[in-house]
Amino acid sequence: MTATYGEIDPPQRLLMGPGPVNAHPRVLRAMSADLLGQFDPEMTAYMNEVMALYRPVFGTQNRWTFLVDGTARAGIEAALVSMVAPGDTVLVANFGRFGLLLTEILGRIGARIETVDAPWGEVVPLGAIADAIARTGPKLVATVHGDTSTTMAQPLDGLGRLCADAGALSYVDATATIGGMEIAADRWGVDIVTGGLQKCLGGPSGSAPITISDRAAAHIQRRKHVEQGIRRDDIDDGEGVRIGSNYFDLAMIMDYWSEKRLNHHTEATTMLYGARECARLMLEEGLEARYLRHRRAGAAMTAGLRALGLPVFGDDRYRMPNVTAASIPDGIDGETVRRRMREDFEIEIGTAFGRLAGKMWRFGAMGYNARKHKVLLTLGALEAVLRAEGYSCLVGEAVPAALAAWEAAP
Ligand SMILES: *Cc1c(COP(=O)(O)O)cnc(C)c1O
Repeated sequence: MTATYGEIDPPQRLLMGPGPVNAHPRVLRAMSADLLGQFDPEMTAYMNEVMALYRPVFGTQNRWTFLVDGTARAGIEAALVSMVAPGDTVLVANFGRFGLLLTEILGRIGARIETVDAPWGEVVPLGAIADAIARTGPKLVATVHGDTSTTMAQPLDGLGRLCADAGALSYVDATATIGGMEIAADRWGVDIVTGGLQKCLGGPSGSAPITISDRAAAHIQRRKHVEQGIRRDDIDDGEGVRIGSNYFDLAMIMDYWSEKRLNHHTEATTMLYGARECARLMLEEGLEARYLRHRRAGAAMTAGLRALGLPVFGDDRYRMPNVTAASIPDGIDGETVRRRMREDFEIEIGTAFGRLAGKMWRFGAMGYNARKHKVLLTLGALEAVLRAEGYSCLVGEAVPAALAAWEAAP
């Protein structure tokens, strides 16, 4: 049978949910460039450029700053499986669904998991993390920077110091915030930070930027020569246990990204082109300008939603600028509104998870979509759909409120 499916020709949707978002056209163009062999000098030069480009993106001087091939979760899993051995105690500062993901992955590794939790819509106070470290004596403290499930951003200044003073390594999942809020790996003093492209970096999913401190790299490399099935007690505790994954073995991946170029996987050339362009776009715009653009978009979205009479979820002091959750009004069916936004306006907005499912929508304004007109179009469309569904609100208030908030955002 001959193939009868047509050429890929997706509708032009405006993706204003919690991710993925529309990729910047320059990223898509970079991804259509020709392929290279993985040890071609042009290719390895691009790999070195990617390492250099992502250091400022992560706010770090770390030598080990590169890409893990796979979606953001690949970066998370690589970091955890490479740092943590079965039986190690790990403290997770948990304030949403992605904190739960960390515990899920750590459970498979066989870690002893301790958590310090905040209710959804709040963050974990640093003092509570300090107390939990003192109580549990963890090898690693793991948390999330921005949790898209709750829209909260955990303050991280001082976290690395707390961990280092207690002899613990530290890990942060910054997938939701990288490219939209400041990532300061060095100032935070956090050992490993990972991200993804499909949110504020404005690329497609499929590549996970990572940065690793020298201290964490040394810890991981000490696990490299341990043989399978043998626990070497002459090597300090967890370091005497072989890393429980081949694909996510960061020691091997570091050898691949080093001058040694030891073969591991085949670098995902097309994703690397895309990741490189994401970082170039960000540095060209300027970090401060980029963060301001996301703050403006978040302030505008928030003001517009409030002008529609929709309560916005979570503690305002800690809300991420790039994802905003608002309540579905009584008597309105959230899924019908999402369908009409998609069918009538080609705009995608998000649902919510867990205890917020069915009660909230989530609105993203990230990367290429953190732009004034896209926020205004979304709010205008939402007002029209809500009114068509019988919701009563002041007509024409949302867009001007959003415009004013865009201009006023600090
Ligand atoms: C979106 C998101 C992820 C997504 O991971 P993928 O594997 O790329 O789907 C992970 N962590 C956080 C905090 C996120 O917001």
